[in-house]
Amino acid sequence: MPEKPEVITVCKTLEKQILGKKIVDCHVYWDNIIVGKTNEFEEKIKGQTIEAMTTRGKWLVFFLSQDALLIHLRMEGRFYFRKMGEERSKHEHVVFVFENQEEMRFHDVRKFGKMMLVPKQDVFSLRPLNELGYEFDDPMLTEEYLLDKWQKKRLPIKSVLLDQSIIAGIGNIYDDEILFLSHISPFQRANTLTREEATLIIKNTRIVLEKAIQMGGTTIKSFESSEGVHGLFQNELAIHGRKNGICPVCGNRIEVTKIGGRGTYYCPFCQIEKKEAA
Ligand SMILES: [Zn+2]
Repeated sequence: MPEKPEVITVCKTLEKQILGKKIVDCHVYWDNIIVGKTNEFEEKIKGQTIEAMTTRGKWLVFFLSQDALLIHLRMEGRFYFRKMGEERSKHEHVVFVFENQEEMRFHDVRKFGKMMLVPKQDVFSLRPLNELGYEFDDPMLTEEYLLDKWQKKRLPIKSVLLDQSIIAGIGNIYDDEILFLSHISPFQRANTLTREEATLIIKNTRIVLEKAIQMGGTTIKSFESSEGVHGLFQNELAIHGRKNGICPVCGNRIEVTKIGGRGTYYCPFCQIEKKEAA
């Protein structure tokens, strides 16, 4: 699933292709992708120009003439550009037609993607964006903030880092990387983490995400930002999906397990779970 660096890569890629373009028509072929009424979505978006783009958490935010269009790629959502009239593949579920007869098509094999229109001026203070926690690079993301959010969380830190209402944008891959670099066991309960460990998590979250953003994200089977656009961060992953199964720090075998249903890679020697204080 695309995480913050991949969503930023998609945003930058699309910006080059669609900024300033007017949407003259829109066709939705799979209703469940649209939050709200499909025909209202199709009608409302017609005639609006794409004026600016940004990201919030894992959402793409398109500022249109009147509304903000929010798109969540979820598992495998991606965009393809086609000439008007070119045959539509069965996985292209939403088609945006531009004035120049070019089409931007939302391609989503798993059909988990989501799109919605929100009043532009209130986009950050309305659902779903107002439910998100701080971005990784927000100066408000501090040790105090995390310790406060974690104090009642008895879940493993692996699961808690995926909670978008605390830090927005971390997904399964970067979660493993951040914990490995921090020498923290993914099983460690969030409420047992110390201030020093919170400091390490903030520091390593910034290091991992910034580097991944610079490299255009991670290209994995389910992610490709747009045709022909591939990230390179997969070559930098220290622990998640590591092919030889050997920890790059201590040389012992990496463990692969599931935590909260999510595939988790960790080194049982470098990331030792601390016993809870009595
Ligand atoms: Zn190790």
